[in-house]
Amino acid sequence: MNSQVPAGDSLLEMAWVNGEFVAPAAAKVSALDRGFIFGDAVYEVVPAYGGNLFLLQSHLQRLARSLEITRIRNPYSDEQWGDLLQGLVDRCGNHDQSVYLQVTRGVAPRDHAFPDVEPTVFCLSRPLAETSDQQLDQGLVAITTADIRWDYCHAKTTSLIANVMLRQQAVDAGADEALLLRDGLLTEGSASNAFVVVRGELLTPTAGEQLLHGITRERILQLARQQNIPVAERSVSEQQLRRADEICISSSTKGILPVTRLDDVAVGEGTPGPVWHAIWQAYQAEIAQLRKGAAG
Ligand code: PMP
Repeated sequence: MNSQVPAGDSLLEMAWVNGEFVAPAAAKVSALDRGFIFGDAVYEVVPAYGGNLFLLQSHLQRLARSLEITRIRNPYSDEQWGDLLQGLVDRCGNHDQSVYLQVTRGVAPRDHAFPDVEPTVFCLSRPLAETSDQQLDQGLVAITTADIRWDYCHAKTTSLIANVMLRQQAVDAGADEALLLRDGLLTEGSASNAFVVVRGELLTPTAGEQLLHGITRERILQLARQQNIPVAERSVSEQQLRRADEICISSSTKGILPVTRLDDVAVGEGTPGPVWHAIWQAYQAEIAQLRKGAAG
């Protein structure tokens, strides 16, 4: 693997394209790349705290699954992926980072059928956006919308135009996130998984083909169990969502955040709830450990 940007120069952002480290603005792929032409690609986003990639193995497992579903060849072993991503993180320094990786089916003349070409790999690390105190103190605002996506939502593909349109619908309504309803049931958010608390029980929709099996979602379920919070994975109806005592959303870049208004109605007491707070604290403690690991 070539390295145009030398290791040791600590930079805030760094990209990697097909074997070379490059400044993000200089990263280039062909306009004939199927990721560009068809959205024929899968991706992951892995956070790194204090230089340590968080839950990397789970992300690599999901990447392998997304590649299998879409029948794109996995260009690297887990060890190679680990070395590549850690190399990127190390070049950027010890600040908290969000590491994006994308594998496309490759570059070929436009034709829907699969070509026999090498996959394109693009990675980018940039500083992780901090959660604001306001989001933690007051919670997020969400709207509900119809889930207009396809039936492979468990594959993390870059074909995200539906998610993009759904998120913009939320933004246009002055909200932070759109919670998606399909056949009267909650699936997830436009870029997050969703949880509700009903009479002290933490509920999240079952991980099927209609939602992404979030790495943060999985970790939250484990942390909740460790704290003896009753948890269940089962369907969540629109009515349960609207009557929930608490609503939370989760993602790798944001952790777990409370939703305190849904479609202009207060959720529960209208403030971040105790179940969210207990899990958020446990999640923050894990991140603090990772940061300490970097310092020590
Ligand atoms: N669902 C969707 C549609 C998402 O885009 C994301 C974040 N990429 C998530 C769920 C959360 O997944 P994770 O916790 O693995 O980031």
